Amino acid sequence: MPGQGTVEDVVRCLNFAQDVGKQIKAAGYQLEKADMKMLLADLTAAVASAKMELSLLQGVCEARDAELIRMNEVLVFKGNLRRRGDGYYKTLDGRPYGQPYCSYCWEGSQKLLHLHSKILSRDVRVCPGCKNEYQAARTPYLEADGLMV
Ligand SMILES: [Zn+2]
Repeated sequence: MPGQGTVEDVVRCLNFAQDVGKQIKAAGYQLEKADMKMLLADLTAAVASAKMELSLLQGVCEARDAELIRMNEVLVFKGNLRRRGDGYYKTLDGRPYGQPYCSYCWEGSQKLLHLHSKILSRDVRVCPGCKNEYQAARTPYLEADGLMV
């Protein structure tokens, strides 16, 4: 029965494999060929399940690592971002510069997504995440002239 890539799932598979070993030992290592085939099939299945659970667990760990990195970026940027017009900008010495970030995504889920110019429109910027549209005039690119970036 497949689990969800938790440590408990891995341990359950390994315990099953260990039980197979105990059965072989309890039989005094003397088994009929058919019984031995069945136990080896159980053992192989348990090892395959453990490998699958470990693979799932690795995915879980990688997803958490990515989330930790993202949360760290959020912390770093939090004190460094400033709202101006309808967007958020990185700042240097308190002065916003560069491309605007989507205010909806930042305020709602602390995601930093740059706004893009809408195709065939110079007046509208769009967020690639939430698809909200912003007036370009209220979300300009701010030159970093004079700022040491
Ligand atoms: Zn957005």
